[in-house]
Amino acid sequence: MTHNTIDGLPPLREVIKTHDLRAKKSLGQNFLLDLNLTSKIARQAGDLSGCDVLEIGPGPGGLTRALLFEGARKVVAIEQDARCLPALAEVTAHHNGKLIVLQGDALAIDPTKYLTGPIRIIANLPYNVGTELLTRWLSPTQWPPFWQSLTLMFQKEVAQRIVAKPGSKAYGRLSILCQWRCTATLKMEIPPAAFTPPPKVTSAVVHLERREQPAFPADAKTLNQTVAKAFGQRRKMLRASLKGLHPQIEDCLIEAGIKPTQRAEEISLEQFCTLSRIIKGTA
Ligand code: SAM
Repeated sequence: MTHNTIDGLPPLREVIKTHDLRAKKSLGQNFLLDLNLTSKIARQAGDLSGCDVLEIGPGPGGLTRALLFEGARKVVAIEQDARCLPALAEVTAHHNGKLIVLQGDALAIDPTKYLTGPIRIIANLPYNVGTELLTRWLSPTQWPPFWQSLTLMFQKEVAQRIVAKPGSKAYGRLSILCQWRCTATLKMEIPPAAFTPPPKVTSAVVHLERREQPAFPADAKTLNQTVAKAFGQRRKMLRASLKGLHPQIEDCLIEAGIKPTQRAEEISLEQFCTLSRIIKGTA
């Protein structure tokens, strides 16, 4: 039987009912059941034709179906909850095997052998593992990484931190980590009512397109240490918060064009990179 949905498969409310997929809080399960909305999210990643997509946490398959409908060459999806597998198997059958589901914890599974470039990562992430996955995707040993872009749903507050610029409260470690190696854009907000069950907070979709080279040269480890210390005590002046990073930290700051009395929030990505090169002795 074909249904009046984008792909002819049953509506998601029916899928949830048939497979008894009551949302589990412990797995961060807030499902999107409107295929028009999931298609809109899929389109934020750009043209999917000719791309393999890695999805984390497909759940009942709302975003997964949209990714296939929007033309992804293949979707590899990692889902921890075994209850979702029969529903996802129906999607795999309907799309002639273009969906591969790996069951387990996304933090423990390496999906790369199932994927060929160009690869886009697109997910309505489980909030409990979202920032950990993002940090890992942005900190591989080799750059450029295996993926081309990340299109991810987060709590709005996390999304704002990812795209924040100097001078704003949201500007911090995550902004530097993301913007050093990617361009980051906030694409759309999604209200709690769009989810089943509705979460307490508003969500937002961010799109990160990798830079082939980081925005400014720097050693990843030194930059990370500098930024961690600077924002670890964000109300303090840098000459105090960065103490211990270098014996002549005030001289390093001045050489980087930063006043030792400035605070982390005022320092641009370029200045942090310059400072970390001076600290490392590679300026
Ligand atoms: N993509 C679906 C949607 O948009 O309706 C579901 C999103 S729901 C916010 C997060 C999904 O991630 C759930 O299906 C949950 O079971 C799954 N999940 C939670 N922790 C996970 C983990 N560590 N690895 C893989 N999947 C996980």
